[in-house]
Amino acid sequence: MVRWGVLQRNFWLKYGLDRLAVSPLINANPIYNYFHRRRAMARTMEYRGRAPEFLFIETHNYCNARCIMCSYANMRRPKGYMDSSLFELIVDEASALGVGTILLHGTSEPLLDPNVLEKIRKVKRSGRRLHVITNGSLLSAEIAEHIVGEGVDEVTVSLDGHTKESYERVRVGLRWEDVVGGIENVIAQKQRHHRSTPFLRLQYVDAANDRRDAYLFWNYWRSRVDEVIYMRANNWAGQVQLDKLTPACPSASPCRFLWTSMVVLWDGTVPLCCLDSSASHVLGRVGDASIGQVWTGTALSQIRDKHLQGERGEVPLCRACAIPSVWWRPVAGKAAKRGIACDAEDASQF
Ligand code: SF4
Repeated sequence: MVRWGVLQRNFWLKYGLDRLAVSPLINANPIYNYFHRRRAMARTMEYRGRAPEFLFIETHNYCNARCIMCSYANMRRPKGYMDSSLFELIVDEASALGVGTILLHGTSEPLLDPNVLEKIRKVKRSGRRLHVITNGSLLSAEIAEHIVGEGVDEVTVSLDGHTKESYERVRVGLRWEDVVGGIENVIAQKQRHHRSTPFLRLQYVDAANDRRDAYLFWNYWRSRVDEVIYMRANNWAGQVQLDKLTPACPSASPCRFLWTSMVVLWDGTVPLCCLDSSASHVLGRVGDASIGQVWTGTALSQIRDKHLQGERGEVPLCRACAIPSVWWRPVAGKAAKRGIACDAEDASQF
């Protein structure tokens, strides 16, 4: 296994592995798939009886951006905000179940929620780790101070460009200087409060196939924040077409997300995964059932079985999905401690 530290230092190694992970050389190779499935079968046994490591809560589904690689514009479901009572129920259940990390993240920008600070406080008082994934455009000094002061464990900011021009051609509707200012606000508040948290990660999703820009971004930011990750844009399980990217070869291996993570949308719906932005494949509904009941329920078990039997193509979203799933490293331990949140991130870390 390639050591993370080496990847952190070497952009081109990381870039090459990222390309390899979605190429037919790996995903259409029967020998690789045979050994990878064996590994996945063994690893999934470790998850038996465990709560989700990661619980994504979408507190609303509004966004202030129209990013070219996002399925937000194609989302086919009603818009709204989660009731506070439902949010509290989910956090209480997650706590009782032993969920590892709660992520404020959905097909939305979480900081647009007018009650986001109360929600942050509620999660932190429950004792769960909290990870906020944001486009960074609303990270004012005040919000940054709350995030640091409340003890949020992890913040991931999507900054998909090294320059104003490269960023704004991808993150349509946002201003590069607002996001860079937001990142600086978090860094400044951490210094002011002498805090090592939140673990501040910048994420570069390469939607324009601009290697040079990604390389400059990597070199500039990696000494300023806790972690920089690079990943190729994905097709949102077939829901987004990206002109500049060569198509990725879908994986034949089981998807890790199904054993590690669960998503609850603003109205309590539990979709297949974080790519199912229109909730086209519903696993259950929190409110009618508990998180634990959905996690161990028949709907999810059937999908897992299909993945293990090499029949993921029978699940329409999974058939079109080009996110690589990598099971070589241990599923728990280091990965869980690092708060690695979904397969998109797995792809950037093997
Ligand atoms: S294969 Fe893709 S669409 Fe299917 S569960 Fe995994 S991430 Fe979601």
